[in-house]
Amino acid sequence: MNNKKFLRQCVSCRLIKPKEQLIRITKNYKTKTIQINYNSQIQGRSVYICKNKECLENALKKKKIEHYLKSELTENIKEELYTVLKI
Ligand SMILES: [Zn+2]
Repeated sequence: MNNKKFLRQCVSCRLIKPKEQLIRITKNYKTKTIQINYNSQIQGRSVYICKNKECLENALKKKKIEHYLKSELTENIKEELYTVLKI
């Protein structure tokens, strides 16, 4: 059996899903800024979130991403998340 997937937990709904179904958001350990980590090139503390509107809105409302990354989310990154999710 060689089909083991990398599973990660959504910070919002807590469901565990294959990595490719989630968006990775990382606090860059050098610049301390929060970035969407499209290709896992950015190193730092990360959270994962489902690619759907409900999870994003719930996470933003409850400040879950801020809580885990211990940083404020800028309006820019919020807009980028909505754009990526095509909401
Ligand atoms: Zn979710």
